[in-house]
Amino acid sequence: MNAHDSEKVIGTLLAEGYQQVETPDEAHLVLYNTCSIRDKAEQKVFNRLQQFKRDAGKGKVFGVLGCVAQQEGEKIFERAPHVSLVAGSASYTKLPEMLVQLEAGNRHVTGLSLDTDETFDTPFTRRDNPHRAYITIIEGCDKSCAYCVVPFTRGPERSRTSASVMAEAQRLAEQGYTEIQLLGQNVNSYRDPSPAGWDFAILLGRVAEVPGIRRVRYTTSHPRDFVRAIVETMDANPVLCDHVHLPVQSGASRVLAAMDRLYTREEYLKRIEWLKSARRNYSITTDIIVGFPGETEKDFEQTLDLLDQVQYDSLFSFKYSPRPHTAALAMPDPVGDDEKQRRLVAVQERQRAIQIRRNADLIGTVQEVLVEGRNQALGQWIGRTSSNRTLNFTDPRGEGLLGKYLPVRVTRSGPNSLVGESVTVV
Ligand code: SAM
Ligand code: SF4
Repeated sequence: MNAHDSEKVIGTLLAEGYQQVETPDEAHLVLYNTCSIRDKAEQKVFNRLQQFKRDAGKGKVFGVLGCVAQQEGEKIFERAPHVSLVAGSASYTKLPEMLVQLEAGNRHVTGLSLDTDETFDTPFTRRDNPHRAYITIIEGCDKSCAYCVVPFTRGPERSRTSASVMAEAQRLAEQGYTEIQLLGQNVNSYRDPSPAGWDFAILLGRVAEVPGIRRVRYTTSHPRDFVRAIVETMDANPVLCDHVHLPVQSGASRVLAAMDRLYTREEYLKRIEWLKSARRNYSITTDIIVGFPGETEKDFEQTLDLLDQVQYDSLFSFKYSPRPHTAALAMPDPVGDDEKQRRLVAVQERQRAIQIRRNADLIGTVQEVLVEGRNQALGQWIGRTSSNRTLNFTDPRGEGLLGKYLPVRVTRSGPNSLVGESVTVV
């Protein structure tokens, strides 16, 4: 979402007459988009701001955008006095006005209000990838997971109208994009604010019908709002990719309740069952937090057991990181950092073994890939499967394949990617 926010901010600046340069050194205005989901990400921001200051020389204007801006607010002006703009994502609709203030020489411009029901649509978005495009369908979050700073930094949930999402999807298809990724902190709670009143499953089905679009992905799903109609819609339309990211966070219902995740282990597994008994073979991935305050060894064992039971194709795992403005801050946290680290490594090792096995099962199969890049050194093309795996492959053609969809036979596998050869030899 941050990457796409940056694309929208860049598009807005270009529309205002700015030019993009390659490095902060060359820039007169440096806008730094930030993440504060974990403490480490936040620390990086302040280190980088110091570095900019050292390297930048005089006469440059600096702005901090995103979640650290929202979280720290005007304190940033004290910690980094060379910064002139501090704005959270809920204020980006006002970016052109803020730029005018900066140009007028105002050295303390802020956009920190969360009081908005507007979404930041920009028709000028400057997209990084020539084949795959992101579309934000919902911003903010109305859940209150006890560890998470997002509801504070990104404000309340706001859905875009279905008409504006569809118009953007159609425009992208006309421009030659073939893959669309629908974005939101919790895409499943999408509610069309217009009279059409579409829910997420309906929107997903309609986007998949846009002529020219070959693949549609979406992220992220909250398990509580992941309803069976979504699986039925996916089953009915192969344009919807064979992949669902369904963050579980913990395998223990006791911890899930403390996290305020609004589902139990059993309710989560019911959704996994819908996916496993579906008509298509879906790749399932997740997020895990280890060492949430009060997580016992027994709770943690249940997370490892869940990995064995679900057999995820990939996961993101994190040590619990205390965040400001969250309920978990007030919870006693007897799990020491060494123990958190041990649990993190245990999750990653268990998952690595699962991925090695699951990827090896694909050897000999033919997968359709979207060709996304070329590794000259290895003489390989880089492809992505519908299940979101990287499949590097050889093809006698040394050029002209970027953006194409090709069948590739898998010949080797590793924990994180596949290797193969193109089956369309000309
Ligand atoms: N909205 C999504 C959801 O509900 O799953 C994901 C939001 S967050 C940007 C992505 C992931 O970061 C979460 O799924 C969670 O695993 C992790 N995360 C969020 N807050 C965290 C914290 N305080 N400490 C460690 N990991 C955290
Ligand atoms: Fe954070 Fe929970 Fe909202 Fe996801 S659903 S963004 S984890 S509060």
